Amino acid sequence: MPGVFMKTVKIKKGWQFKIAGKPSQRIKNSPAVSHVASVPDKLPFIRPRLLVQKGDHVLIGSVLFEDKKHPDLKFLSPGCGTISNITYGPRRVLHEIVIELDSNEIFETFEMITDSALDLIERKPLIARLMAGGMWPFVRQLPFRQIANPDFRPNAVWVSLGSADPFQPSSHIYLKDQVGFFEFGIKALSRLTDTVNICRYDNEKSGKNDFDANIVTHRIIGKYPASDPGVVLYHTKKSAAENHDWYIDGQDVIHLGKFLKTGAYPIDRIVSFSDASSDNSCHLKTRMGIRLKGLAPSAINDHSKRWVVGGVLSGYTSAGDEFLDPHQTSVMIMEETNQSELFGFVRPGFKKLSNSRTFLSVISSAPLTINSDMHGEERPCINCGYCASICPVDIMPQFTYRSIYADEIEEALACGLLDCVECGLCSFVCPSKIELSDFLIEAKHRYHKELSQVA
Ligand code: SF4
Ligand code: SF4
Repeated sequence: MPGVFMKTVKIKKGWQFKIAGKPSQRIKNSPAVSHVASVPDKLPFIRPRLLVQKGDHVLIGSVLFEDKKHPDLKFLSPGCGTISNITYGPRRVLHEIVIELDSNEIFETFEMITDSALDLIERKPLIARLMAGGMWPFVRQLPFRQIANPDFRPNAVWVSLGSADPFQPSSHIYLKDQVGFFEFGIKALSRLTDTVNICRYDNEKSGKNDFDANIVTHRIIGKYPASDPGVVLYHTKKSAAENHDWYIDGQDVIHLGKFLKTGAYPIDRIVSFSDASSDNSCHLKTRMGIRLKGLAPSAINDHSKRWVVGGVLSGYTSAGDEFLDPHQTSVMIMEETNQSELFGFVRPGFKKLSNSRTFLSVISSAPLTINSDMHGEERPCINCGYCASICPVDIMPQFTYRSIYADEIEEALACGLLDCVECGLCSFVCPSKIELSDFLIEAKHRYHKELSQVA
């Protein structure tokens, strides 16, 4: 039943996903693993200070590292066992902390909180608990998408249930048997700010395992990336003060509730797994920090495959030997190909995944298989305007790109750079293969760095 005060938000621009291999509603358990890891270099804007060394024994929830700038911000172990390896990337950036698991894993214990105590707890001590308990990194802040600044009081927290990206987990699956924790998490969030907006993507309608749908505040309709909190905020905000609102994914709200209610660091995870070349696509019940090859052992030595983590259009590619960033919930395997297509320019393109009207696939709704082929090198902009016509937050990426290129950051900001929700659509549709979204994201990060140096 819809909420009495529920608003419907219709997003007009975006892209109708028609990629084959989306995960089915089937739930599978991922195989048991011997190692898990924490991956600090996937966390945005963090300078980690390592607090363990190789050979140390840790429990689930022991502190592995903290942020140098905010030492109260702790990052906890997703496993109980011995630290077997610590690796660094370029410029000695901390890459992975690997834990070899014990056969019997033990949890650190944190103070539990009851329903009535949650009603009374002050904002500050609650934030301190969430920071010490490794929960705070799940709360993010717009527009830079960094871990939320605990000293700031936002106008609202946005909670997303379901996604316009069908390769992300379904909320029905992660809510199954977890509704109590979800509602407890929502209650905790309401202690942090006056408004908690719960946005349900339209395809994620009520199911039999569902929670009280009356608490949903926004129903989101539209194509990818309509469900992104940045898109919803862009289309609903009334003042610039809202630009710095916080957001959190529905599955992470469950974790927050579980942590506060049980006093244990939750490590369970529902990950959507898709492999267009097989019928293995499903929802995997797994744990945080698992090695990717633990999700699909058969694909790991197959060099014709590419692993994509975090979304087909906005995620990153990975060697399957890496560990899954605890914040990511989507893994896809696609064909690795760089073969050029003979006479590709005269083919009608019935099977070409593109938004361009020059390919006949645009008139079909049949799902198409995606692969890593870029279909050519980067070329100069031809001013076709495709990028602007698809951008869900009305940026003109081609002009923003030029401003950044000319080092005119003020001009890029005036073009709406900070509204960019990092969805990747502009790069996807660009016939000149310009990596617009990467360019804009990098400029946003540089600007954030400048602002932090001034502060
Ligand atoms: S500029 Fe590109 S990446 Fe940013 S929101 Fe628009 S389409 Fe998405
Ligand atoms: S889609 Fe590419 S070629 Fe077309 S206007 Fe945008 S940047 Fe230029």
